Amino acid sequence: MTFSYSMKRGALLVLNSGSSSVKFTVFEVDPGEEQIMPLFSGQLTGIGTDAHLSAKAATGERMADESWAERDSGDVPALLPSLLAWVEEHLPPDLPLLAAGHRVVHGGANLRHPAMITDHLLGELETLIPLAPLHEPQNLAAIKVLADNRSDLPQVACFDTAFHHTQPRTSTTYAIPRHLTDAGIRRYGFHGLSYEYIARHMETHLPQLASGRVVVAHLGNGSSLCALNRGASVDTSMGFSVLEGVPMGTRPGNLDPGILIYLMRKFEMDADALEHLLYHQSGLLGVSGVSNDMRVLLSRDDDNSREAVDLFCIRTAKEICSLACSMGGLDALVFTAGIGEHSAEIRARICGHLKWIGVDLDKDLNKDDATRISTAASLPVHVIPTNEELMIARHTVDLLTMRNAA
Ligand code: ADP
Repeated sequence: MTFSYSMKRGALLVLNSGSSSVKFTVFEVDPGEEQIMPLFSGQLTGIGTDAHLSAKAATGERMADESWAERDSGDVPALLPSLLAWVEEHLPPDLPLLAAGHRVVHGGANLRHPAMITDHLLGELETLIPLAPLHEPQNLAAIKVLADNRSDLPQVACFDTAFHHTQPRTSTTYAIPRHLTDAGIRRYGFHGLSYEYIARHMETHLPQLASGRVVVAHLGNGSSLCALNRGASVDTSMGFSVLEGVPMGTRPGNLDPGILIYLMRKFEMDADALEHLLYHQSGLLGVSGVSNDMRVLLSRDDDNSREAVDLFCIRTAKEICSLACSMGGLDALVFTAGIGEHSAEIRARICGHLKWIGVDLDKDLNKDDATRISTAASLPVHVIPTNEELMIARHTVDLLTMRNAA
C-alpha cells in the first residue's frame, strides 16, 4: 500500500477501539489554515451485551443516544462499518472524510513516532500482540476493518508507548538477566499521547513549567504517572504492561511478583486466571468489593471503600516522590484524566501526603478545578485537561501533510 496524498480541507476520524467499546472523535481539518477543530464525538459501548451509541456535537448538542443491540453480532469489528457509515452520514456536506487516526496501545521497542498504516506496518504490529494481548488486537482489528471498507482512506497509528522513548535505560530496564531484557522484557510506559498533549500544552501556555521537572498524574480508570524533564519523558509508573504502577479501577498496580508464583502453586491459577484477576478483579474494585468507579467509592461510608480510596491516594503520592527522584527534584505537579481533572477530594488527599515536600493546595481553587490549584507559596500544582484525541488528530495531519510536502 502506498499513498500519494494531497491533504485538503475535510474531516478526520479518530478512533480508540477497545474490546467492547469504541470511542470516536471527528475533527474538521484545514491544513492550509493549520486548524483542527472538533466537530462531534461519541462512543459505542456495551458491544456484545447491549450495544449503545451515544454522540454529541462539539457545541454540546446531543446527536445520538440509541440502542444498537439489533445490529450487534457480538464483536467490535462487525459494528465498525455501521459506525463508519453513521459518521459519514453526519458529516457536513462540504467536509469529506479524508483520513483516520488510531490510538494503538503498543509500538514496541522500534516504533518511536506515529506511522502511516501500510501492510508492512500492520505485520510489524501483529508481532506486538503478545505484549498487549487485551488491547493491541482490538486496535488492529479497527484498522483492518477501515482498510477493507475504505481502502482509499489513509490511516495513521499513534502509539501510547512512543512518547516514552526518550527515557534512559535505568528507567526502562528491569533487574532481570540481560538476555530477557534483550528479548523485549523491559519497561515501555503507556498513556504517552496524554503526556505528549500535556507537554505541548505546557510549552504553549505554561512555558516556565515546561522547562522544569514536572510529574504528571494521569488518573482515570487506568492510571499512570510520568516524569517530564523539559517536556521529555524520563520515567513513568507503568512498565512492561499496563498493570504496573499505582492501583487502578480494576488493576492492582505494583505487586510483589512472589504473589504470582504463590497463586500459581497454591491455587493452581494459570495464565488466563491470573490475567483475569489482574486486569478485571483487582484495584479499587478488588479492595472495595463494590466498584471501580471513584465517584461511587467517594460517596460510600464503609471501611472497604474507604480503604480502597486511601490506598489509591498514598500509592499515588509515593509514586510522585519516586518519579521526582528520577529527575533529581520536582518543580511542579500536574493532575489530568477523569479523576485528576474532576476530583478535588482525591487531589486534596494525594497532596495531603506531599506537604513535606512543599505542596499546599488552595481549598477554593482546588474545589473549582482551577488551572492552578496551589497557594502562592506552594510547589505549583496544576489541573490540565488532557486531550489524547486531539494529539492523534495533530499527528495524523502532520504525517499526511509532511508526506504531501515530500
Ligand atoms: P479512562 O481510563 O477509561 O479513560 P477516565 O479518564 O474517563 O478513564 O476516568 C474515569 C474515572 O474518573 C472513573 O473512576 C470516574 O469515577 C472518575 N471520575 C470522573 N469524574 C469524577 C469526579 N467528579 N469525582 C471523582 N471521580 C471522577
